[in-house]
Amino acid sequence: MLRKRLAIDLGTANTLVWIAGEGIVANEPSVVAISAEDNKVVAVGEDAKRMLGRTPETLVASRPMREGVIADYQVTKAMLRYFINKVASKSFVLRPDVMVCVPAGCTQVERRAALDATLEAGAAHAYLIDEPLAAAIGANIPVSAPSGHMIIDIGGGAAEAAVLSLGGVVVHKSVRVAGNKIDEAIQNYLKKKHNLIIGDQTAEDIKIKIGSAVKLEKEEKIQISGRDVVFGLPRSVVVTSTEVTDAIYPPLSQIIGAVKAVLEETPPELASDIIDKGIVMSGGTSLLRNFDKLLTEETGVPSHVAEEALYCVVRGTGIVLENIELWKRSVTTKR
Ligand code: ADP
Ligand code: MG
Repeated sequence: MLRKRLAIDLGTANTLVWIAGEGIVANEPSVVAISAEDNKVVAVGEDAKRMLGRTPETLVASRPMREGVIADYQVTKAMLRYFINKVASKSFVLRPDVMVCVPAGCTQVERRAALDATLEAGAAHAYLIDEPLAAAIGANIPVSAPSGHMIIDIGGGAAEAAVLSLGGVVVHKSVRVAGNKIDEAIQNYLKKKHNLIIGDQTAEDIKIKIGSAVKLEKEEKIQISGRDVVFGLPRSVVVTSTEVTDAIYPPLSQIIGAVKAVLEETPPELASDIIDKGIVMSGGTSLLRNFDKLLTEETGVPSHVAEEALYCVVRGTGIVLENIELWKRSVTTKR
């Protein structure tokens, strides 16, 4: 009987699952709702996300991944079990082999935790791959060639920049700044300048609808509602794209700092390859309008967003899983 093989991108914001030979089969928020009384998992993914910020006292909705690594081991395990069962339980008797990716900068303890959580969630074998390598493979970068390539994956909780050559990570740097910190910057700005408190979801909406990393020639506006800081009552204001660009610059600058730090440590031969080929961006936050333009301006290296930036990591993990013999030097495993 055939054993199913799953590749899982366990992100801070979203979890994606790939089945070898099939492609992406699940894509849901990394959220778990737990009953406060008996600690039981009530909902995972899309259903649990709808409960975030709206939970009665008897329910706790939480994001078990923080800044790219496992923050709550038990809840992560429950979430992994949900995804594994969702795509591989009914029709298959054998437990699946599962590959997950971890940030290149994560510690041995964090790596072991990821392997153990995967096994305890129901995998027969667990495999780990470094996320920048997965992102680059998923972005169709020829990472096995003897030439330097740079990728920056910018997700919800963390951004990780890396230079790859000959199938391995040569230099890497991560910062715990990404989409969530950009949303926070928008929230802080509205509180300070407009005396308005807005929720996480509203901040993300503003970012996606009118956000831009560099000032737009034709300014855009959006009307949003929140709660007045002083009077405590609902109120709405109009926010402009120029305000948002200014408000989000500090976190963007921190992300760009990771790229600069990597460039500074890159051996000269590889650095000249990178200047030729440019920096590839992946992850949801790379979709922020004009982020590639800002990165190009601030580093002097041409930068562009990978195709299907949200899927690069899971695709790359899936490709490694499907060709595991080829990549065995880059994969850690446990059964
Ligand atoms: P993770 O790998 O951490 O789970 P993802 O790569 O799934 O993260 O990216 C999620 C982040 O991308 C969120 O912070 C979300 O707000 C942001 N994002 C998604 N689409 C856009 C967009 N069009 N513009 C700006 N940010 C976006
Ligand atoms: Mg990610």
